[in-house]
Amino acid sequence: MARKKKRPCPWCVENVDYIDYKNVARLRRFLSEKGKILPRRQTGVCARHQRQLAVAIKRARYMALLPYVVY
Ligand SMILES: [Zn+2]
Repeated sequence: MARKKKRPCPWCVENVDYIDYKNVARLRRFLSEKGKILPRRQTGVCARHQRQLAVAIKRARYMALLPYVVY
């Protein structure tokens, strides 16, 4: 049961202080195939950015850039 090596937060690495909801290609990588937001332990995103990410994804969904549910 090897726990994958701890990943640094991809947003912190790039010094992102505001996650752009229009950057859909980027946001998609933090969604499961069902369209759900992946948990932090899977993506390595820090608490601060996970919070921002959730807001960005919700905004993107509202703008119909991302799906709420994937069938
Ligand atoms: Zn971060």
